[in-house]
Amino acid sequence: MEIKQSKTVSPDEDRLRAKYQEEKNKRLRPDGEGQYLEATGAFEDFVKDPYVAEPEQRGAVWEEVDVAIIGCGFGGLLTAAYLRKAGIDSFRMFDQAGDFGGTWYWNRYPGVRCDIEAMIYLPLIEEVGTVPKERYASGGEIYAHCQAMGRHFDLYKQALFQTKVTGLGWDENLARWIVRTDRGDTVRARFVTVSQGPLSKMKLPGIPGIESFKGKMFHSSRWDYDYTGGSATGGLTKLGDKRVGLIGTGATGVQIVPVVSDYAKELFVFQRTPSALDVRNNEPIDPAWFGGLPEGWQEERMENFLAILSSVPQDRDMVSDQWTDFWKRLVVLMAQHKLSAGDEHPQHIMQIVDDEKMNELRARIDDEVEDPKTAEALKPWYNYLCKRPLFSDRYLKSFNKPNVHLVDTAGKGVEAITERGIVANGEEFELDCIIFATGFDVGAAAYRVGGYDVIGRGGLSMDEKWSTDLRTVHGTQLNGFPNFHIVGGFAQGTTAFNFMHPLSIQAEHAVALIAKCLDRNIAAMEVTPEAEDRWLALMEENHNMALQRYFEECTPGFLNNEGDTESKPSFLGGNFGGGTIEYRRIIRHWRENELEKDTAVTYAETEA
Ligand code: NDP
Repeated sequence: MEIKQSKTVSPDEDRLRAKYQEEKNKRLRPDGEGQYLEATGAFEDFVKDPYVAEPEQRGAVWEEVDVAIIGCGFGGLLTAAYLRKAGIDSFRMFDQAGDFGGTWYWNRYPGVRCDIEAMIYLPLIEEVGTVPKERYASGGEIYAHCQAMGRHFDLYKQALFQTKVTGLGWDENLARWIVRTDRGDTVRARFVTVSQGPLSKMKLPGIPGIESFKGKMFHSSRWDYDYTGGSATGGLTKLGDKRVGLIGTGATGVQIVPVVSDYAKELFVFQRTPSALDVRNNEPIDPAWFGGLPEGWQEERMENFLAILSSVPQDRDMVSDQWTDFWKRLVVLMAQHKLSAGDEHPQHIMQIVDDEKMNELRARIDDEVEDPKTAEALKPWYNYLCKRPLFSDRYLKSFNKPNVHLVDTAGKGVEAITERGIVANGEEFELDCIIFATGFDVGAAAYRVGGYDVIGRGGLSMDEKWSTDLRTVHGTQLNGFPNFHIVGGFAQGTTAFNFMHPLSIQAEHAVALIAKCLDRNIAAMEVTPEAEDRWLALMEENHNMALQRYFEECTPGFLNNEGDTESKPSFLGGNFGGGTIEYRRIIRHWRENELEKDTAVTYAETEA
């Protein structure tokens, strides 16, 4: 690979930094994270489940189990699968949705697809026997895999769907968690795992007048196919006479535009910040090739991807896509510099690769978009990782269609919503329908996502504990909350572009600890305040200042608290900064070697 070397900051780089700063300033808003609305109260209809015809009728469940699993997306599914494999069969699963799937149950919008290769994204694929049709699977295929996991591990009989947990409290005398639901269920559980997902709490934009629109409005995670017609793969024929407005050009918006633009009479795309779009190159998977892969291939492939994205040099790149391309460039350049002068700062090297990538992506827009003014408006001016990098071979070209109109708001966003439509740049656009692809409260604390508080030992509320001082061990356990495990928690935990890594690490951890407690007749295991201190110290030691600075300079978004990195750490700054591989090593080592020191346990009484 040919990579330019540079040792000094060129005037071009200076100009680019100034441009990035200028664009960031346009997008900064004084209301920061407060600009979004929760879908509650007057907006409650936005979260109604459009995918179940009739609510399921059932009686209330009263029972005692070993484990209550809250959330039936991949976090809950992995936990349940690992419990089953460990021979722990007494568990109950809860979810508001009508089936397994989590984010893939809710997000059925046209064009929905995962940007991580299916072979490394779909967990336990070898065991479940799913054969992905394409490298990057559609949402429907991923949802089907979730259902297949449910069948393979025989989980349906233990799942309570269309059921919202309303209360979770630790009963000290019983040493049980009491789970209550909106269906009148009361389940007593020795252990609780919570996997409510980062993409479950939708965000609506707090645009003045949002409640006054007389046409149709919905959020992308509750697509109304009754209104649009068709399905996630197309056929949205009912939009043929409709003027549609789309707010949001992030990961979701860029997948929606190509499909909706095939059907809508007119599509107005309201853009606040353009996304950085790389090529997708999706392709079918040959079932014969797939069937011939040696046992254990998935773990090897997942590890290879994780290592490359952690800048650990590998002999080969098994996935070899746009994700790995960026990190391979980085590793090559770093190696070159070490060999030569060694006087470059790593951030500068990162910046060289970043600028190169972003210049390529901006040039691609000129190649794909016919109208030069539209092409210019679609160009992203920020560093590559400031937003989740996106991939599409159809999004940019959609703007060449005569019925598609980009309404660029130069970082300002939509001004108002009226009875008739949307006001942007001082102009009113009359619309029949507004679609909000405005994302989710990704950084919401685990307890907030469910909309109920968690009451731990001595009546300690997690809301209180969390709001004053965030203290955890590994981002998964908390003092005051015995036998309670977060699976898929970011805060003080870890994250990765392939979310299956953190999920499987934390699910494995929770199940291993539960199994230990059951084996040793431990009634309650609780991390100590000293263990929290030690984890906080390790977090501090591993705090990635470079990452923190990187996001401080980024265009506002959920990764940097909408540009406010003063009042709390950025989304990634609040993670363990040593990376996912190191996080996994630490957590496994802790389980084997530090558990006794870091936890207080009480033993269950045994019958004489
Ligand atoms: P995002 O938060 O990424 O995007 C929200 C969009 O809404 C942004 O373009 C934002 O603009 C825009 N917006 C918000 N308020 C306004 C306003 N008032 N006026 C105009 N525009 C506004 O949400 P997504 O649903 O796109 O994605 C969320 C996450 O879901 C992703 O980061 C990704 O992790 C995940 N996802 C993953 C996929 C995958 O393939 N793995 C596919 C889809 C989603 P601005 O950028 O200026 O804030």
